[in-house]
Amino acid sequence: MFSALHRKDFIAQLKTTEYDTLVIGGGITGAGIALDCASRGLKVALIDKQDFGAGTSSRSTKLIHGGLRYLKQLEVGLVMEVGRERETLHRNCPHLVVPEKMLLPLIKNGTYGTLATSFGLWVYDKLAGVKNEEQRVMLSKEETAAQEPLLRQDILEGGGLYIEYRTDDARLTAEVIKTAVRYKANCLNYVSAVEFVYNERGRISATKVKDEITGEILTVKAKTTVNAAGPWVDEIRDFDTSNHKTNKYLQLTKGVHLVVPYHRLPLQQSIYFDVPNGRMMFAIPRGEITYVGTTDTTYKDEINEPKTTAEDVSYILASANSMFPSVNLSENDIISSWAGLRPLIHEDGKSPSEISRKDEIFVSEAWLISIAGGKLTGFRKMAERVTDKVFQRLKKKYQYESKDCFTDKITLSGGDFKSYDAVEEYVAILAEELAVSGLGQKDANYLVFNYGKNAKMIVDKIADIRNKDYHPEVNMQIVMAKAELWYCFHYEFVNNLSDFFIRRTGRLYFNRPSIDYLLEPIAEELSNYLEAAKSKEMLMADFNGEYQLVVTFESENS
Ligand SMILES: Cc1cc2nc3c(=O)[nH]c(=O)nc-3n(C[C@H](O)[C@H](O)[C@H](O)COP(=O)(O)OP(=O)(O)OC[C@H]3O[C@@H](n4cnc5c(N)ncnc54)[C@H](O)[C@@H]3O)c2cc1C
Repeated sequence: MFSALHRKDFIAQLKTTEYDTLVIGGGITGAGIALDCASRGLKVALIDKQDFGAGTSSRSTKLIHGGLRYLKQLEVGLVMEVGRERETLHRNCPHLVVPEKMLLPLIKNGTYGTLATSFGLWVYDKLAGVKNEEQRVMLSKEETAAQEPLLRQDILEGGGLYIEYRTDDARLTAEVIKTAVRYKANCLNYVSAVEFVYNERGRISATKVKDEITGEILTVKAKTTVNAAGPWVDEIRDFDTSNHKTNKYLQLTKGVHLVVPYHRLPLQQSIYFDVPNGRMMFAIPRGEITYVGTTDTTYKDEINEPKTTAEDVSYILASANSMFPSVNLSENDIISSWAGLRPLIHEDGKSPSEISRKDEIFVSEAWLISIAGGKLTGFRKMAERVTDKVFQRLKKKYQYESKDCFTDKITLSGGDFKSYDAVEEYVAILAEELAVSGLGQKDANYLVFNYGKNAKMIVDKIADIRNKDYHPEVNMQIVMAKAELWYCFHYEFVNNLSDFFIRRTGRLYFNRPSIDYLLEPIAEELSNYLEAAKSKEMLMADFNGEYQLVVTFESENS
């Protein structure tokens, strides 16, 4: 079981094993590297100072996309690679990387003209190897207006309809981690790297780490060390006193998304729209909400807790209102928000939006392998390149045999479906089972698109709880959440309420009203699982900090 219950055993393994590689950072980049290294037979440990995915990998636009935007910047190689990755990821976890219709409205003096869009989307389809039935369709002004009646009509000139893929970044990260664990990687959250230990030749031979739950400092021996710390990559590179052999460094940019109730921005499909004098934005309907973003501003503040400011809020609301004027969104409509930091590689003289999203690997003299830049979409290929580097070192120093990457053929945890149709059929099967407990299609949908085939364990647990504890007034939504907590605690290493409500279930972002009635019962249940190491009240107080970050917006000047 991949559970906090066994944390002591996992920590003991960290102390006593010499790993082939230690991965620092459990966002999507580190998770992908752990999976690639472990599946190629290496002994791997991965640590994250927070929860898995708590950095940028739970704060993106949540699209697995070919990056149409990058075509405009002539980054053909990037478009081709990430475009093709969409197909691979969809195949390996069809419940979590889901086709999403995207409308690109063409407006007077907009970023994209009609001919350029038609050609650009055609090239995009070709480069990304898009299937025939998913290839772009160009629409007239009238067709575009009919496709999305909320669009501002007076500046509309037409539109392009194409396919992107939607995901849940934090869940994708968790499923990749769980799959790495299946290949025997030792992955631990709430353990931070604090210092490197060098051998007599000045190479890193171990890392001192801190268990953030007990405060214990321990030494983890590893033949190679990978720095996949996203926005913290430079902080980790600063621990390394050897020659970095490059003068490149990170430039962080902040991106904010706002969530409003679906009925306040009831779009027919996702929209990628122009913002007057700004970068383009996405508006993405998802169940009971629609989210809008993102900003892209240079960031030099505290990395650990990027905040949504009042300025971000007014910019995004004004942008949305400029394209969907009839909805007239205001601050009162906002349910929640998230702010993330892009770990980009600095390029002289370029604005945040112009900086390339390409990834790059830096290897220091002490053999710290750092990876920076990149995108959620490209994580598998990034991991392949880093693992090749790890093998290069292991081969030279320890005579390991190189092995080829095969993560394109690894089904991710929960993703064992023959096709996308099979996901929808599975929703229908579970909906029937849930009907006995008074739950419905919507609940089955939520469970399958979050947990894939693992949803069955939750459905069985729902029946179990209901059979043991039934009374006529029972709130089945609470029962369902308790069953999810049981699963996430025992199989997804949940330690606290933020892990559960933000990164495993997405409830704080996508279903905030449910927190009102779930908070107490779930806190009580979790406290029982933790064997009262933390009381219900302590757990709720800890959660309140992250809750406030998501729902309150101070001015940058206050
Ligand atoms: C607003 C926004 C929108 C985006 N939208 C998209 C999108 O739609 N599609 C897409 O493909 N990409 C998108 N991206 C890019 C994508 O989200 C990132 O490239 C990706 O999530 C980065 O993942 P990472 O693992 O490198 O970093 P992170 O997810 O930040 O992971 C780094 C981890 O390192 C850990 N760490 C730091 N220091 C230490 C330490 N000392 N010890 C142990 N652990 C440590 C942190 O806790 C963190 O969890 C977006 C980015 C942003 C900001």
